[in-house]
Amino acid sequence: MIPLKSKEDLEMMRKSGEILARIMRKIKEFVSVGISTLEIAQLAEELLKKENAKPAFKGYRGFPAAMCTSINEEVVHGIPSERRLKEGDIISLDLGLNYQDYFSDIAVTLGVGKINAKAHKLIQTTKNSLFEGIKKARIDNHLSDISYAIQNCVEQNGFSVVRQFVGHGIGRSLHEEPEIPNFGRPDKQTLLRAGMVLAIEPMVNQGSWECEILDDGWTALTKDRLLSAHFEHTVAITNNGPEILTLCS
Ligand code: MG
Repeated sequence: MIPLKSKEDLEMMRKSGEILARIMRKIKEFVSVGISTLEIAQLAEELLKKENAKPAFKGYRGFPAAMCTSINEEVVHGIPSERRLKEGDIISLDLGLNYQDYFSDIAVTLGVGKINAKAHKLIQTTKNSLFEGIKKARIDNHLSDISYAIQNCVEQNGFSVVRQFVGHGIGRSLHEEPEIPNFGRPDKQTLLRAGMVLAIEPMVNQGSWECEILDDGWTALTKDRLLSAHFEHTVAITNNGPEILTLCS
């Protein structure tokens, strides 16, 4: 069953999402050539503390950090380290927040300094595909309409969607039902209803969609070592259409 949020729950989810958006805005300003991913994650943790919020990822199934930082061919779940960002890198930042036991989740991919045209197109397409998916997050649509819209946008631009990782419902816990694949034909299985809150998160590869996991047990990277990008928003389905709770730019 997909949990439906009450009016009160939705108010709290809005607060959670607003805080997360505010934090991500500051983190985006901080990212630049020469900064280490550990420094980015430390900033995230400081900002969370200032907002009286808790990191949702730290300790989740043993994940060691507040934030996932995935560089270039890394798809998701990169562990922050001393590695410093170089001109031309792209970095995916994924941050989950727990505010009074209401969760929100966001991801963005940024270019570091000057990036090449291909990397720029990958980032732009991934972001666009997220918004194409969000447009379909409407009452009386089906969940698969979101998936189909994302995949279409990505493949029309010559890229591929990751199959191994998917979006998810979110609310009183980080991962709730349903799973939201970023691929698949439209079907009539799951009808969207007001009160559902979804973390929609396309992960898009420059080459093949296939991924593998590093020996650290976390970091997912593209099998062909080409670039990957990731965008995510926490979105409420309301009577007035989709409401992005984590809007940050
Ligand atoms: Mg997520």
